[in-house]
Amino acid sequence: PKKALIIGAGIAGIATAIRLAVKGYQVEVYEANSYPGGKLSQFEQDSYRFDAGPSLFTMPQYVNELFKLAGRNPSDYFRYQKLDVVCRYFYEDGTRLTAYANAGKFSDEIQEKTGEPAAAVKHYLDNSSMVYNVTNHVFLERSLHRLKTYLRWDTVKSIFQFGKIDAFRTMHKANEVFFKDKRIVQFFDRYATYNGSNPYSAPATLNVIPHLEQHFGAYFPEGGMYNITSCLVALAESLGIKFHYNNPVAEIALQGHTVRGIKTNDGVIEGDLVVSNMDIWFTYHKLLSNYPKLYPQKILNQERSSSALIFYWGIRYQFRELDLHNIFFSADYEAEFNHIWREKEIYHDPTVYLNISSKYKPNDAPESCENWFVMINVPANTGQDWDALIAGARENVLNKLSRLLNKDIRKLIANESILDPRSIESRTSSYQGSLYGTSSNSRFAAFLRHANKSSKIKGLYFCGGSVHPGGGIPLCLLSAKIVSELVG
Ligand code: FAD
Repeated sequence: PKKALIIGAGIAGIATAIRLAVKGYQVEVYEANSYPGGKLSQFEQDSYRFDAGPSLFTMPQYVNELFKLAGRNPSDYFRYQKLDVVCRYFYEDGTRLTAYANAGKFSDEIQEKTGEPAAAVKHYLDNSSMVYNVTNHVFLERSLHRLKTYLRWDTVKSIFQFGKIDAFRTMHKANEVFFKDKRIVQFFDRYATYNGSNPYSAPATLNVIPHLEQHFGAYFPEGGMYNITSCLVALAESLGIKFHYNNPVAEIALQGHTVRGIKTNDGVIEGDLVVSNMDIWFTYHKLLSNYPKLYPQKILNQERSSSALIFYWGIRYQFRELDLHNIFFSADYEAEFNHIWREKEIYHDPTVYLNISSKYKPNDAPESCENWFVMINVPANTGQDWDALIAGARENVLNKLSRLLNKDIRKLIANESILDPRSIESRTSSYQGSLYGTSSNSRFAAFLRHANKSSKIKGLYFCGGSVHPGGGIPLCLLSAKIVSELVG
C-alpha cells in the first residue's frame, strides 16, 4: 500500500490519519509531544483533572462520522450528553441569564430578564439558520481552492444567494439592528470569539455561529473533552495506524517539487504523501525553511486569531449558581476588544469564561470541590511583557469573580497553573499562540486561509486549525475530510 506520513497528532492529524487508513493507506503519525491531541489534551493537578484547551463541544456528528467510516458503531466507542443549559451569563449590572438549548425557552428567558421580545430572538435565529444554509457548502465542507467545488449545483445556488449572507457590515452592526437591549447585542457579539475574532470588525456572516450552537446543540463528552482525542486515537490504532511520540519532524524532504518524505532525528522517512498538521506558518518557516521562494507570503502574513490566558484553579467549594459553561461579561465590550486588537493588551475588566467539567464529571475534583478553567481572551503573542500582564489580569479576574459571585475566590484556590500565549505557542507550535489560526476579521478571511493541498509541492497536504476551513474542533475535523477527498 501507499504510505502517508502525518506531521502532528492534533485532532485534525488524527482524523486525517483515520480517513487515509480507511482509504487503504499505510499511515504513520509523528508527534513532537509525548502525548496526542495537541491543544485537545488534559492534565492532572493534585486530585483535580483539567481539559487543557477546548471545552465547548459542538457538531459531534463529525466525530461519529469517523467511526462510521471505519465500519464501527460510534456509540460503542464515544458517548456524549446534550446540554439543556448551554451557558450561564453574568452581567456587571447584576443581570443573570441562562442560555437554554431549547430555542423557545431561551427566547422566553431573554424576554423575561431583559425585555427584548422573544420574537426578535426567534427572528435572529431564523436568519442565522438561513446564512448557514447558504454558506456551509461553500465555506466549510469543501475545498475553496479547486474548480470542482464551483461547478457543483449547490455551490452555484449558494453563490447566487451571497447577497443574503451579510458580508458587508460587522457582526456588531448587524446585532445592533436586530436588538435594542445592549446586553443582548453583547450576548450575540460574543460568538465572534468562537473563532478568535473581533465582533467590531468581523463580517456579520459569522452570525451563523449561534445557529450552530442553538440548532445542532452543545454537548459534554463522557469522560471529558479529552475523550474525543483518546477515543479517536484508539480507533486509529485499531486500524493499524502507528503513532511515534516524542518525534518532532525537522523538515519535509523534497525531490524537485515532489514530496519524498520527512526528516526526524532518525533520518529521512520516505512516504508517498505528507500531511502537515503543524501550524501553516511554522510548516513553511521550519519544515520548508530551505525553500523561502515557495512561501505564500500574503497568506502567511494574515492577522492571527486571538490567544488566551487560562488559570486552572482547584477550588475548595461548590457554587450552585454555576454550570459547566459560565460567562462573566465586561461592562464595556467595545473597549475590551479595542484593547485586545488595537492596543494588543489585556483590558482591565475582561470578559471571563469559566468552565467547570466537574459539574458533569464529579470525579474531576475532590468531594465538595470544583475544577475551574478560567479563561480570558488576550491578543496573539507579539512579544508583550506577559509576566506583567498576567499578574495584573489575575488580580482583575479574581476581583471580578469575587464581586459577581459574592465570595472571596482567593481563599478557595487550592492549586493553580497557568497557560498563556507563549506556552500555547511552544507546546503546540501555534504561531503567536493563536487559538484558531488566522482571524476572521475581514470579509476576505475565508479566501485567505491556506488551501488543504500545496499547489507547488506534489504530495503535500495540510490540515488543522490554521488552514481551510479554520479553527475549532468541528472545522479541524472538516479539514481532514477535505484532505482525504483531495488525495483522491
Ligand atoms: P493542534 O491541536 O494545534 O495540534 C498540532 C499538533 O502537531 C501538536 O500536538 C504538536 O505538538 C504537533 N506538531 C507541531 N509541529 C510538529 C512537528 N514539527 N513534528 C511533530 N509534531 C508536531 N475549539 C473548540 O472547538 N471548542 C472550544 O471550546 C475551544 N476552546 C479552546 C481553548 C483553548 C485554550 C485553546 C488553546 C483552543 C481552543 N479551541 C477550541 C480550538 C481547538 O483547540 C483547535 O482549533 C484544535 O484543537 C486544533 O487542532 P489541530 O489539529 O489544528 O492542531
